[in-house]
Amino acid sequence: MKMEGENTKLLKNLTEWRFSQYPKYILLPIDENHDEVLANIKNVVFSEVTPRPLERNLRLVCVSEDVLNNILDMDIEITTREEFVEFVAGKKLPYGALPVAHRYGGHQYGLWVGQLGDGRANILGEYVNRAGQRWQIQLKGSGQTPYSRVYDGRAALRSCIREMVASEACHHLGIPTIRSAALVVSDETIVRDMYYTNTPRREKAAVLMRLSPSWFRFGSMEILSRMGELPTLKQLADFVIKEYYPDIQLTDENRFIRLFSEIAHKTLDLVAKWQGLGFTHGLLNTDNMSLLGLTMDYGPFGFVDSYDGGFVANSSDGEARYSLSKQPDVVVWNVGQLANAIKPLLSPSQQVHMSHILKTLDTYCKNKILETFLMKVGLREERWGDEQLIEKLLDMMQQTGADFTVTFRQLAELEPNEMVNEVKLKEKWSLKRLSSHASWGCWLDQYRERLEKEAVDASSVGMFEDERRRRMLSVNPVYIPRNWMLHEAIFDAERDDFAKVRFLMDVLKNPYEVQPEAEALGFSAQPPQWAYALKISCSS
Ligand code: AMP
Ligand code: MG
Repeated sequence: MKMEGENTKLLKNLTEWRFSQYPKYILLPIDENHDEVLANIKNVVFSEVTPRPLERNLRLVCVSEDVLNNILDMDIEITTREEFVEFVAGKKLPYGALPVAHRYGGHQYGLWVGQLGDGRANILGEYVNRAGQRWQIQLKGSGQTPYSRVYDGRAALRSCIREMVASEACHHLGIPTIRSAALVVSDETIVRDMYYTNTPRREKAAVLMRLSPSWFRFGSMEILSRMGELPTLKQLADFVIKEYYPDIQLTDENRFIRLFSEIAHKTLDLVAKWQGLGFTHGLLNTDNMSLLGLTMDYGPFGFVDSYDGGFVANSSDGEARYSLSKQPDVVVWNVGQLANAIKPLLSPSQQVHMSHILKTLDTYCKNKILETFLMKVGLREERWGDEQLIEKLLDMMQQTGADFTVTFRQLAELEPNEMVNEVKLKEKWSLKRLSSHASWGCWLDQYRERLEKEAVDASSVGMFEDERRRRMLSVNPVYIPRNWMLHEAIFDAERDDFAKVRFLMDVLKNPYEVQPEAEALGFSAQPPQWAYALKISCSS
């Protein structure tokens, strides 16, 4: 048994807090030649960098107490110290730091665009916490790197707030994701043309401290494969297996196939989670697809309000390539690009094996999504006709403009036979809207019938109803980070009032629980009219 004290103590200052000596990534090729012309960088996975700290009147916008306590072993009290704020701003590098920028490439909007790389992000080092987990700490907005080209290496406060709030919310919603620890802003400004309409304006710059076990993307492998840097590709693939997929043996000659298969399935599991919560990533380029199956790159994402399969979160995505209902296909396509990147490491027969795996992915993804939606309506196992039951429900939602999140929640809050009762429906604004559909009664009959089939196994229908409700309430959230809430919080934060950001973070720690303070602010009510006109671009 662990003794109270030493092992459980959370740190209140940075004196004893240090990075792991050494980070594992030191085993991969790191470019140290800062004068090297970008195009000549070959056979490296990282470049050494020095963060350019944010200066001038630093203020802490918000922190994730969960990340501080449970990942970084820090007591919340540490956030009152100047050294903590300086750490987040890139000014103070704790012992053992080895700042690097990662070299990767990617397919953007379906086209190979060559080398990208961290243009404004620095991995500072790795922290091994008291639970023995190894986390990489990264700053976003901490200055230019060899991969920056023309940009300033900074990040806008507004986009950092969106990422901070959404990544922590996704974690609490049960979506695998990178995490955010803390966000600082200063009086430094940057110029951004938010909607690419030739109307640049000055905005506040910020630095976001975020965490992931690893920041590798599909594009990390793609760049090495495309450039013919095969020994480095192999080295990276073996590194990823050793550090992040320890169930795969390094001596296994089929290890790269297994790695591919694990990443592919993890990634599709992630898409099913996104679909179940109405999360639209907005920028599903292969440089934004994690090799660990985590949600990463929170730019122009959006949680759909009124259900619409054609919902496009990103106003820069004119062709709707990344719309909500196209996400599964696009991710399968992205996984195909990862397959192409890994292919040179495979023998001809292994390549055939890989193409067989690829052919199963569509079906795997569809089944996962169906499984997710069946859980959302309180059903455990798939039976004949279930796919149509879900499709019909989504069609009705789309046609009536019912809210995606709230409808599922309210489906749990009423008993099926109450769902035609006008008085009961009056209290459930989104379900009421759905019930205006001509096919509502018919759908409800089918749903009831379907529930009865499953209830036969339960000892009584009454008990089954309790179980249905309990299960549905645990997978259908009350709160999601909606664009209008983020918009209001950002508006205030740009004027140095961080209360709304912090409140949002607080509410979204328990997204499956009704909270009176959040109810009072309309967080589960119909979004305000102006919210439907909000535009989010990938400018950040
Ligand atoms: P992102 O939108 O964060 O996925 O960025 C796409 C690519 O552009 C990445 O390689 C970034 O590192 C780079 N980038 C984006 N914004 C900046 C910036 N302000 N300064 C330098 N590089 C940037
Ligand atoms: Mg990106």
